[in-house]
Amino acid sequence: MRAVVYETFGTVPEVREVPDPVAPPGGVVVAVEATGVCRSDWHGWRGHDPDIRLPHVPGHEFAGVVAALGAGVTGWVVGDRVTVPFVCACGTCPACLAGDHQVCHRQQQPGFTHWGSFADLVVVHHAEVNLVRLPGTVDFPTAAALGCRFATAFRAVVAQGRVRAGEWVAVHGCGGVGLSAVMIAAAAGARVVAVDVQPRALAMAARFGATVTLDAAAAPPDIPAVTDGGAHLSIDALGSQATLTASVDGLRRRGRHVQVGLLPPHVTVPMGRVVAHELEIVGSHGMAAHAYGELMALVQAGLLRPGDLVAEELPLTAAPAALAAMDGPTPPGIRIVTP
Ligand SMILES: [Zn+2]
Ligand SMILES: [Zn+2]
Repeated sequence: MRAVVYETFGTVPEVREVPDPVAPPGGVVVAVEATGVCRSDWHGWRGHDPDIRLPHVPGHEFAGVVAALGAGVTGWVVGDRVTVPFVCACGTCPACLAGDHQVCHRQQQPGFTHWGSFADLVVVHHAEVNLVRLPGTVDFPTAAALGCRFATAFRAVVAQGRVRAGEWVAVHGCGGVGLSAVMIAAAAGARVVAVDVQPRALAMAARFGATVTLDAAAAPPDIPAVTDGGAHLSIDALGSQATLTASVDGLRRRGRHVQVGLLPPHVTVPMGRVVAHELEIVGSHGMAAHAYGELMALVQAGLLRPGDLVAEELPLTAAPAALAAMDGPTPPGIRIVTP
């Protein structure tokens, strides 16, 4: 098969022929039809992820067709259209037994713990736990957009954030996760304030339902001033000291902050404010395969349109350059590789 391979961290990967993977016991091989280019892939390529062993193939948000079944897999056949969460769970650890596959103790992540989906074929372990069946009406690029950023945003806003109609929701950072969060919160009937430093990202946020957009490059975002005293729910979709602080500072009393963006190792949270205003600080990490049904139903009903986030479709040969381009600022929306 063809795959995007890097031998050392930070040098531009190459598209080359490598041996086809074999389906492991309990797992499957998926023929990749579409795979997103995500900042997490860039972090991995830059050497920020201790799980990655070289040489490596990135890619973790994909959709495709089951191409081969490992021993013992039931309920799936070759040709099934599927996607998977970026956290692939074991199905048997204490977290999985409690239904919390997104925080599995023995999780595997294609594109991190093993070779990923910037390739013609990718391995999915514990297929019966992790495969998500795609409705016929959901195309592969849309499903690839669902696999990581949209599903992550859905859990952050709906499950962890407990959004309710009429609430003010602030979204800090309007990349893939942030724009998804804007669309999901607006669809839930919330009034959304979108914050970013790129006017083009803010324009997209407005298109996806943001009531107010604030350019943080022009002035520090004053969320309380535009939300009648502060957001009920605030999402840090970027992950930096600045966005975390702005998110917590923008909450009203008893507001809820959900941290989605991955943070550098040492950040400060204004805990005095957390105590005095009884704020909630919650993390959110992907979404279990079994939770995709509710999201998929909203997509099928046309209430959520993850496909609108797809800014560009690229061939596999363009994937190395797309990854390297994340060294600098990238245009808004999601880039999808269709091998
Ligand atoms: Zn991702
Ligand atoms: Zn587990």
